[in-house]
Amino acid sequence: MAWNPASRLHQAGAGHPERPQRIEAVLEALRAPDVAGLVEWVEAPPADREALLRVHPAAYLDALEAIGAAGGAALDADTVMGSRTWEAALASAGVALAAVERGVRDGTAFGATRPPGHHALAGRAMGFCFLNNIVIAARYGQELGRGRVLIVDWDVHHGNGTQALVEEDRFIRFVSLHQYPWYPGTGAADERGVGNVFNVPRPPDLPRAVYVRDLLAAVDAALDGWQPDLVLVSAGFDSLAGDPLGGFTLEPDDVASLTTALRERAGGAPVVGVLEGGYRLDLLAAGAAAHVRALA
Ligand SMILES: [Zn+2]
Repeated sequence: MAWNPASRLHQAGAGHPERPQRIEAVLEALRAPDVAGLVEWVEAPPADREALLRVHPAAYLDALEAIGAAGGAALDADTVMGSRTWEAALASAGVALAAVERGVRDGTAFGATRPPGHHALAGRAMGFCFLNNIVIAARYGQELGRGRVLIVDWDVHHGNGTQALVEEDRFIRFVSLHQYPWYPGTGAADERGVGNVFNVPRPPDLPRAVYVRDLLAAVDAALDGWQPDLVLVSAGFDSLAGDPLGGFTLEPDDVASLTTALRERAGGAPVVGVLEGGYRLDLLAAGAAAHVRALA
């Protein structure tokens, strides 16, 4: 279980749903007696620039750092940099990198990241995201010799940044279950990349079992005749019933069964979860704990 205390330093402004209490809630849940014994904690170093440059251009990284050093600014209507956001973003990407290292070593791992990453494009922050942690993790996995990477994203929002960054890469397959139409507007089923993108766009309020079934069907399609060397999960818990930013109906038990199903399908490849969204603290905590228990 990788984490970094700097994740709490990002402040997007009063009333913003992506708030420091999110990471506190996750860490508290993972320190609870029923989970703590399953988890080995590792404090991740901040991401090094080389790892970031595999995904983001230098000019973009420099611009973010400069905006932070100048005190911060709103990069779009809901993506706000504070004076310490850059520190938190580097910590968040570093946690994803450390989780990959641990996963490769131990078979499974979880990165408790904040801010999230899956909306971030190569040169543009959006949707609360600055650096695309999951693609940074995927590229690092490839550096470690894990050439074929499956990314499964069950955040309620489409991982548009992830898709944009991998959709021409035949070594990476991207499966995303998300509410549709919904923010950010992408993620239609006919967006297939080079045949490596498997979108599962669904309306809100379906029976929870339908979401589970349809996501696993897409995972099975992605794995048809293709064996990954690494499985990464963009683990957003805003897909749980009751989240204020989504209308899906998943329960923590579904998170556990999805995690177990991915481990069964990974064929021995490491399975590494990286935190994305989740905006009701109790659900976020319960979802993360269920995910980590199923990984352990
Ligand atoms: Zn989300």
